[in-house]
Formats: sequence, structure tokens, C-alpha cells
Amino acid sequence: MTAIDSLLAALSTGEARVIDLTAPLSPQTPILQLPPPFANTIPLSLEKVSDFDDDGPFWGWNNIHLGEHTGTHLDAPTHWATGRHGTAVDQIPPARLIGPAVVLDFSAEVAANPDFLLEPEHFEAHVAAAGPLPAGAWLLFRTGWSRFNQDAAAFLNADDRGPHTPGVSPAGAKWLAGSPITGFGVETVGIDAGQAGGMEPSFPAHNSLLGADKYGLTQLQNLDQLPPAGALVVASPLPIVGGTGSPARALAIVPA
Ligand code: MN
Repeated sequence: MTAIDSLLAALSTGEARVIDLTAPLSPQTPILQLPPPFANTIPLSLEKVSDFDDDGPFWGWNNIHLGEHTGTHLDAPTHWATGRHGTAVDQIPPARLIGPAVVLDFSAEVAANPDFLLEPEHFEAHVAAAGPLPAGAWLLFRTGWSRFNQDAAAFLNADDRGPHTPGVSPAGAKWLAGSPITGFGVETVGIDAGQAGGMEPSFPAHNSLLGADKYGLTQLQNLDQLPPAGALVVASPLPIVGGTGSPARALAIVPA
């Protein structure tokens, strides 16, 4: 019996389950809103090619319009100035898209403070309790924020000082960039905090992680269905040649 046979048997008996970490992708799916003078990406829209009509009597299909960074998506290193000469989304080694999940639950802290930031001490406390982060891990930041992901105003949570959503401090981002993880996954619209534009450096998670050949994974949901450790993440961005990211299906396989 091979390892694949064992996994398939576990999936068929319910000893392992597949959890969809992907937010539904529709024209209403919230997208990042940058202030002027910056340009913004587009939400999803569908353009009918045929719908069982004169344009195609036996088939329905659409053209899709969306950004590389629309909805649940993967950030490739080339998305950021620090990684712009690095790996584009089509160049990511496929084995790096699959890895162990490490879930850090800060949903209580974020409920009390939407601007909550992960600091090195949070990661160090996890390592002291659970051991080193495994090589190739997807570190998933559970915040409970996905409960807003079909309500753009609540999801972006902006006031006159900008958006208020959780993230990573500059020191926390540097700590992660020096760790053996493959990527950092969040429930929010991007891998940085809402207030990250005013940090030094600006957008420290993008700056440090993408500059260290690590990836981001955004707008995840169902992280509350994952154990702190022991699940497997499969991230599946499209291999857009030269792309800076891609909408992705993100799945987890969890033991019963
Ligand atoms: Mn992005």
C-alpha cells in the first residue's frame, strides 16, 4: 500500500476530510481598495459567450474578467518591489504549493482589536509550546475575519484613517521571513494589516515575505475547521506566465 493509497483510503472512510478554504468568487467578493492616486484592481465579472442560445445551442460558457489579486488568491514574489526579480506565479515549484498547515488562532484578540498585529513574541511563544515551524509550512493566521467576506464594508472595515484589519508588525514580518515557512495565509483582503501603509517599512508582510521568496494566500475561510497542526494545505494558483499572483483554490486535508 503506497502513501497515496493510504490517503485515498482515509478520505473514503472519513478518517481524513477535505476542507475548502476558498471564499466564493462573485461580483460581490470584496477586493482591495487603495486610496488615490493608486490604481485599483477589478472585481469578478462574467461575460456570456453563449447560454444555450444561438451563440452556442448546446453549451453555456463565459469569459471571466478579474484581477490577479481578486478574491482568494496567491501573492507571488514578483508582486512586490522586494521580490520583483524573483519568482512569478507560473515559476513556483509545484511541490511548494502543498505543505503542512500551522494554524495560529488569534480570533479572540482580533475580536477585541481589529488592528491586532502578530509580533515575534507570538511566533516565539508558539515555537516554545509546539516546536519549530516545519519546513515548507503554510502558516495560517486565524482571525475570524472570514465571517465578513461577503460584506465588503465590514470586510474592509475602513474609517477616515483607512482600513482596520489584523496583520503582522514589521518585526513580526521579518521574523517570518527568516523562518522555514513557504507562505503566510490570512482571512483578510491582503497579507498586510489594514494600517500597514503607514508602517516602516510600508506593507511589511509584503515587503519581507515576498522579498524572501515566500508566498501569500488571502481571503481564506473555514480556518476554524483546521487543527492547530496536522492538516495539509493545497494551494492552486493558475500558472499565469509572468503573473504576480493568481486567484486560487485553497484546500486543506484534515485528519478526523
Ligand atoms: Mn495580493
